[in-house]
Amino acid sequence: MPKIIDPSFRSITSDSFSQDISPSPSFTSRHPWPSSLFYLQITITIASATIILTYPSIMQLVVFDLDYTIWQPEMYQIDGPPKLMSVDEFQGKQKRKSNSQPRQLPLGYTTIHQNKIATDRRGTPITVFDGASHAISEINRMRKEKMDLQLAISSRTDEPSWAYQLMKWLVAADGIPLSKCFDDQNLIQISYSDKYKHFESLHRKTGIPFENMVFFDNERWNCQSVEQLGVKCYHTPNGMTRDDWNLCLEDFGLL
Ligand SMILES: [Mg+2]
Repeated sequence: MPKIIDPSFRSITSDSFSQDISPSPSFTSRHPWPSSLFYLQITITIASATIILTYPSIMQLVVFDLDYTIWQPEMYQIDGPPKLMSVDEFQGKQKRKSNSQPRQLPLGYTTIHQNKIATDRRGTPITVFDGASHAISEINRMRKEKMDLQLAISSRTDEPSWAYQLMKWLVAADGIPLSKCFDDQNLIQISYSDKYKHFESLHRKTGIPFENMVFFDNERWNCQSVEQLGVKCYHTPNGMTRDDWNLCLEDFGLL
């Protein structure tokens, strides 16, 4: 039996559909403000979604490894404990040995003591990487400007007491000793446990979501361990650089 199609069917459904999605002219003319509000709401929703998609996280906690991320050499490599040596003594040692030019001062040697450098027992200088020094001083500046940002350490250094001593002596680019930059003792995690445990502890203590934490470390496997929690990690195999810091700022929409 042939199918009987109501000829009015198409036009009826088409008209109904049009009526459903098109604003009624009579409605918009009678209610112009609600209609504007509707479109404004859509615009805001789209803008918010764009922002969320572009910058899904807010940087709230910056965590640094110590050995070969903030300073060099690593604690297991030095003949410690560290000591302070006068610049004159440091520069004269090599001269006396080889009759060559005075020993050049390395970058990042500055300590809280004018004309004194941190070294191990054999005179090997212990210095702060330029990128770390720069980043920490930038964070100090941001915090002064009331940005809600905290600093923490996650380290598995072999010699915690030497590390604490060096933090008192070595300074960031703005001249502030590292110990004062990392002033919240609760946020200094130095232990042999896996670093994801350090971050779980930091999360418990601060309440900051993992997605809002960043981590700089020269060891890839530490980054891999912590990344699983959702922390944004930056591998710094040559010590922390300014590029590492700028990349982080870019990722959080701060540059
Ligand atoms: Mg390290």
